[in-house]
Amino acid sequence: MDFSLTPEQHAFRERVRAWLSANMPEEWTRRLMASSDIPRPEAYDLLREWQRKLYDAGFIGLTWPKEYGGGGMTFMEEMILHQEMALAKAPPILNVLGVGMAGPTIIAYGTEEQKKRYPAKILSCEEIWCQGYSEPNAGSDLAALQTRAVKDGEFWVVNGQKVWTSLAHVADFMMLLARTDPDAPKHKGITYFLLDMKLPGVTVKPLRQLTGDAEFNEVFFDNVRIHVSQVLGGVNNGWAVGLTTLMYERLALGFGLQVRLRIGLDGLIELGRRMEKTGRVIVKDAVMRQKIAQLWIDTECLKLTGARAITRLLRGEMPGPEASTGKMVWVETHQRLQELAMEIQGPYAQLLRGSDWAVEGGLWQHSFLRSRANSIEGGTTEIQKNIIAERLLGLPKG
Ligand SMILES: Cc1cc2nc3c(=O)[nH]c(=O)nc-3n(C[C@H](O)[C@H](O)[C@H](O)COP(=O)(O)OP(=O)(O)OC[C@H]3O[C@@H](n4cnc5c(N)ncnc54)[C@H](O)[C@@H]3O)c2cc1C
Repeated sequence: MDFSLTPEQHAFRERVRAWLSANMPEEWTRRLMASSDIPRPEAYDLLREWQRKLYDAGFIGLTWPKEYGGGGMTFMEEMILHQEMALAKAPPILNVLGVGMAGPTIIAYGTEEQKKRYPAKILSCEEIWCQGYSEPNAGSDLAALQTRAVKDGEFWVVNGQKVWTSLAHVADFMMLLARTDPDAPKHKGITYFLLDMKLPGVTVKPLRQLTGDAEFNEVFFDNVRIHVSQVLGGVNNGWAVGLTTLMYERLALGFGLQVRLRIGLDGLIELGRRMEKTGRVIVKDAVMRQKIAQLWIDTECLKLTGARAITRLLRGEMPGPEASTGKMVWVETHQRLQELAMEIQGPYAQLLRGSDWAVEGGLWQHSFLRSRANSIEGGTTEIQKNIIAERLLGLPKG
């Protein structure tokens, strides 16, 4: 990949930098920063507003076509934007599944009507999306899903259950995979629907996680009637459409979250500069210095791996199985970073939010606990390894 910038790209970088320095939400900088974490419920309003501001300024959906609300730019500008966000320690966006997955998939497979209807509202955060894939008996083996959709005139009638559905409690729409032909081989009888979460018969029940937050949910469908116009990419073609979403998910996780990783690492170094062990600041400890340096190296490698995936996109190709590499390495690096944050705090690591003595209000403790889910969400590390082995290295199936 050629990293040199054209004069226009330099000018774009200056514009982003100036905008970020004038528009960073003060409350975020004051209270919520210092962690590389996924949005917490108490920050939802702030993040909704932040995403709206990004949209109004044209700093989101840069690569999406202009006619569907995007910026019509290349992945070089997208990369510049991400780098500047990391430098400014900018907040994440709230509609992360919409922007990272639903939007690109709708643009790739949608009818003209769908492409005019959904992407712009995803970018502006007017409509939040969730992903209805996993079920109690279908996670890694997603094609085993059993939620059924049966045709009834102009409608599909959906019955079944999803689980671990992030953001369903605030979502307006769901990327829903349901079985539409039970007699076809399991990968072939699935359809991808754009489901309005306000339809009668949709019930959302929050599930509490290790962190104490309820960030994901169970979702039940009881005779939910979805209009035929809400099928994306054709009936019984849901496996191909759904896989496109997953590739974008891994790309977004591996590349986009690399930015959050960098912000987390900068925060960790600051933490190490402030915390002391036996009268010496942590960053003077030789072993700690090595661990921090290794994290920095790994973060840079991840950035370059992300750039490799971007080269593919710049050539006009879809994200491929190499996105799994980025996701897997991000997970390992992020979990190690969070573990180091606990090590730096020593005995203080045991104090959670709510304790007067918790370091930085217990933010790191929350991030550490949340990071345990990274190797499960978006496809487990074992599954990423299978994809890398079979589809990148050409090894025989296990
Ligand atoms: C925080 C979080 C958020 C999530 N958000 C969403 C969401 O928004 N939408 C959604 O649809 N899902 C979501 N998920 C679900 C997630 O995608 C699944 O948990 C994941 O795919 C694993 O499926 P499972 O939990 O059924 O585990 P299983 O598939 O039952 O796996 C259990 C264990 O077996 C291993 N395993 C399974 N098959 C193989 C194999 N072939 N080879 C080697 N090892 C194997 C797995 O790696 C794992 O360790 C979320 C999960 C988490 C933790």
